[in-house]
Amino acid sequence: PREQLSPEKLTQALCQADDVDAQMSQVVQLFEFSESERQLRHLLVTLFQEVFSEFFPGCAILPFGSSVNGFDIHGCDLDLFLDLEKTKSFQASAKAPQEAQVRRAGNRDPWRTKCTPLQAEEGAGPDTDSEDSILSDIDLATATVPEVLELVAAVLRKCVPGVHSVQAVPSARRPVVKFCHKDSGLLGDISINNRLALCNTRFLQFCTEADERVRPLVYTLRYWAKQQGLAGNPFGGGPLLNNYALTLLVLFFLQTRCPPALPTVAQLRELTALGDGDQAIVDGWDCSFPQDASRLEPNTNTESLCSLLAKFFCVFGDHDFAGCVISLREGRALPLPNFLLSEMDSKLKLGPFNVQDPFELSHNVAANVNEKTALRFQHCCRDGAKYCRSLQYQRKSSKGKAWGLVRLFQPGVPEAGELGPDGFLLTIPFTPMALSPGSRWQLCQARDFRRCWFGKVCSAITFVLKDVLKCSCTEPAGQPLTQEPTEQGGGEQPIVGSKHPQSDEGGSLVVSPARKRLRAEGPAPEEGESMSWSCAVWHRVWMGRRRIRRQLWHLGSPQPDTEQEAGSLEVEEKVSEAIIQQEGDSRGAEPLLRFTACAQVGGSQEDTRTLLCFTPAPQQGPLFQDFYHFLQGFLPKMVERYVGRTAEGGS
Ligand code: ATP
Ligand code: MG
Repeated sequence: PREQLSPEKLTQALCQADDVDAQMSQVVQLFEFSESERQLRHLLVTLFQEVFSEFFPGCAILPFGSSVNGFDIHGCDLDLFLDLEKTKSFQASAKAPQEAQVRRAGNRDPWRTKCTPLQAEEGAGPDTDSEDSILSDIDLATATVPEVLELVAAVLRKCVPGVHSVQAVPSARRPVVKFCHKDSGLLGDISINNRLALCNTRFLQFCTEADERVRPLVYTLRYWAKQQGLAGNPFGGGPLLNNYALTLLVLFFLQTRCPPALPTVAQLRELTALGDGDQAIVDGWDCSFPQDASRLEPNTNTESLCSLLAKFFCVFGDHDFAGCVISLREGRALPLPNFLLSEMDSKLKLGPFNVQDPFELSHNVAANVNEKTALRFQHCCRDGAKYCRSLQYQRKSSKGKAWGLVRLFQPGVPEAGELGPDGFLLTIPFTPMALSPGSRWQLCQARDFRRCWFGKVCSAITFVLKDVLKCSCTEPAGQPLTQEPTEQGGGEQPIVGSKHPQSDEGGSLVVSPARKRLRAEGPAPEEGESMSWSCAVWHRVWMGRRRIRRQLWHLGSPQPDTEQEAGSLEVEEKVSEAIIQQEGDSRGAEPLLRFTACAQVGGSQEDTRTLLCFTPAPQQGPLFQDFYHFLQGFLPKMVERYVGRTAEGGS
C-alpha cells in the first residue's frame, strides 16, 4: 500500500537535522522509494512484460518517468512505454506468406494462436470474441493510435491480474492507457509512442549521477512548489508547472552556475560524438548523450546545497520567463528576439513560461503554464529569496522553533501581482507571436527593440482603457519611443505625442510610491521607458462580461474558439457598451473608481515585459480590487490582440 508522509512527521524530522544541507538530504530520504516499493514496481513491470509478450511477440515494456529517473517519491505513478517496433516487423514478416495459407485452410493463423490468454477467457464475457478478432485483425503497421490503445486496454482489462479502472485516453498530447493496480493502489500509464520520454528519463537520471546535489535540490524544490500550489497537480494538466518542467528548471539553474555544476546538453552531445556513448535520433531529434556520467570532467562547483537553494530563488525571482526561452541544450536563457531570429521556423509554443525540452526542441514543456501561475512562481521565488537571507533559514533554532526548510515549506502565497494596499502590479508579457512573421522580424532587429515594443504596449493600454473599457483617461504622460520600425501598412496611431486631450478628466499625473517601487531593485527608467495614465471608471464594465459576450455571440458576432475568455477588440467594445446601456446610460457625478496606472519597461536589459502598476485613489476599497483582478486576465489578452491588429495594418 502507498505510504504517505505526514507534514508533521516531515517537520519533526527536519527540525532535528543539523543544518540546511542535512535537511535537504533528509527530504530525499523521506520521500524516495523504500526497497520494497522499488521491488514492487520491478515485479509489476515483469508481470506486464510477460502478459504483453503473449499478445505482442517481441514487445518490450520499458519504465520511464519518476519510477526510474532518480526522482521517485512514495506513490508516484508508474509510467510505462510499450515498445512495439519488433512486434511490428514480426507481424509484417509473418503476415505476408501466411495470409494466403490461412485463407486456403480457413484456419487460425499463427498470429492468432499467440492469443492464448484471451482464448482461455473465452466465454467469460460476451465481447471476448470480438477482442480476439481485434488481435488477429489488427495490422500494427497501419493501425491508428486509438486502435492500438484500445487493444492495449483490452489486454490490461482481461489478462493482467489485479488491474482495474483501465481507460484509454487517445486524445492526450501523449496518448496513454491509464490503469490502477489494486493491491498497491499504484496508478499507471502505458504509452505507445513516447520514445522521447525514454531519452529525457535517461537524461534526468544521468544528471543525478553527474552531481549528487541534483537530487536533494530537485526534491526540495518539488515539495516547495507543491506546497505553494505552483506545481504537481495530481491529475495532470491545468496551468501549473509539471514535475518534469520544474526539474528541467533546476537542471538549467545548475548548468548556469559559475562554475557550472552540470554540463549543457550540447556539451554532452560533443562528448558522445567523440565516441563516449550512444548516438541516437528519436522522432527526428538528436538525443545522443554519453552513457557514463563518471567519465565527465571533474566538477569544480563546490557550492553548498543551502546556498544553491537560496540562489535558485534569487535567479528565478528576477527571471523574465515570458521574454526568453530557457535552453538546456545551450545552458542559457535565449532572449526572445535572438531566439526568434535564430530559429525562425521554430514551432515552439511561446507563452508566459518558456522552457525548451532538451531534445524535442519544438516543445515548450511549460506551455500549459498561464500568466497567473508564472507570476506566482516569480513571487514565491522572491519570497523564498528573502526568507533565505534570514537567520531563520540559515541557522538551526536552539529553542525548537521552525527553521530552515520547514518555514519554506509552509504554504501560503500572496495573491499574484499584488504589492499591497496602495499598489497593484500587473505584468504584460512580450507576445511577438501576435505579429506577422515580417513585423516580428523587424521588431526583433530594431536596435531600440525594447522601447519599440513598449511603445506598442502603451498604445494598446490606452486603447483598452479608453475605447474598450470606456474609462476616461488623461493623456498619457511620459514618452515611449514613437518611431516604430517601419511596417508595411502599419496603421498604428501614435497616441503618445498627439496633443488632443480626449479626456474630460483634468487630473494630473500622480507619482505614486508604488511607481517608485516598480524599480526598487533595478536602474531608474530612462526616457521612453515609462508612461502614466490617470483614469476614472464610470461603469461596472468588469462585471457580467461573460454573459453579455455570450448574448452577443448568439446575435451573430463571430464566436472565438471556446478556450478564449475574451472576444475580439470589437466584441469587447460592444460588451462594454451593452453594460453601460444596461446601467441606464447615465453617469453619476462621481466616477466609481479613480486610479493611476504607470507602465515601465522591465528591470533588466533583457527583460521584455512591461510592468504596469496601478495606484487607486484613496478609499476605493474592494471595488478597485475587483477591477484589478479583472484587468489581470483581461488586459494582457487585449494588448496582445491590439498589437497583432495594428501591426497587420488593421485599425
Ligand atoms: P511524477 O509522476 O512524480 O509527477 P514524472 O517525472 O514521472 O513525475 P509524469 O508527468 O508522470 O512525471 O511524466 C512522466 C515522464 O514523461 C517524465 O519524467 C518525462 O520523461 C515525460 N514528460 C512528462 N511531461 C512532459 C512534457 N511536458 N514534455 C516532455 N516530456 C514529458
Ligand atoms: Mg510519472
